[in-house]
Amino acid sequence: MSEKKHGVAIVIISFLALIFVSQFASAADEYPKILDTPWDHSPITVFIDDVNVPQHYSSTYRVQVESAILYWEDGGNSKLDFTPDFEMVNTDDADIRIMWVENIEEATGAEEGVAGFWSPYEVNGKYLRGDIVLEVGNYQGYAWRQYGDLNMFLVTKHELGHALGLAHSNDRKDIMYPTYEERDNMNPLLLSATLPYLMVFVVGSLAVVVLLLVRWWRYKRKREQLEMEVFGDSDHL
Ligand SMILES: [Zn+2]
Repeated sequence: MSEKKHGVAIVIISFLALIFVSQFASAADEYPKILDTPWDHSPITVFIDDVNVPQHYSSTYRVQVESAILYWEDGGNSKLDFTPDFEMVNTDDADIRIMWVENIEEATGAEEGVAGFWSPYEVNGKYLRGDIVLEVGNYQGYAWRQYGDLNMFLVTKHELGHALGLAHSNDRKDIMYPTYEERDNMNPLLLSATLPYLMVFVVGSLAVVVLLLVRWWRYKRKREQLEMEVFGDSDHL
């Protein structure tokens, strides 16, 4: 009876270990993506709205966006299965429209700490078009601070990554890792990416506890049997 239980526990543990290992193996070669091939055409047209800009817009921001576009055309973080080609256009019916607002929380109702976001119009697993909305600064403590060029460059790279189908990375060094400066409205994706690992860990831990309990129970039984054999039933204490 107890041998049987032991066997069942071993099978469960092995099964869980297999799931655990396969999860990590797939995590190593699979990068989190929203869409594998988000655009059905090339080049992807981009309109940068540097005319309707908020009060604290800096004329140096446009260059940061152009540099961010070049970053992805040059291979980006090397996680794309395709090489994107962008074309700048001057009409706002472009595939991607990039615009600035003074305060993203006020303008769009985004969460606090959000610096930019990608808002796509998606049909049948393809992007038809989308907007990248960027803010020009935020409150740090009580003082409002304008974003510098580097921050604008990083946030735009990150948002363009979403526009190219990438989700959030758990790698802190990756441009798609949602850092404080680059936080946006896509945090639920990060949670859904880490949740399976958390579940496997919890179930695995529970299985270990069950195995230990089974072992303890077997040991107790064995000991009782031994005591019965040696001392007899009546006065073994
Ligand atoms: Zn993001």
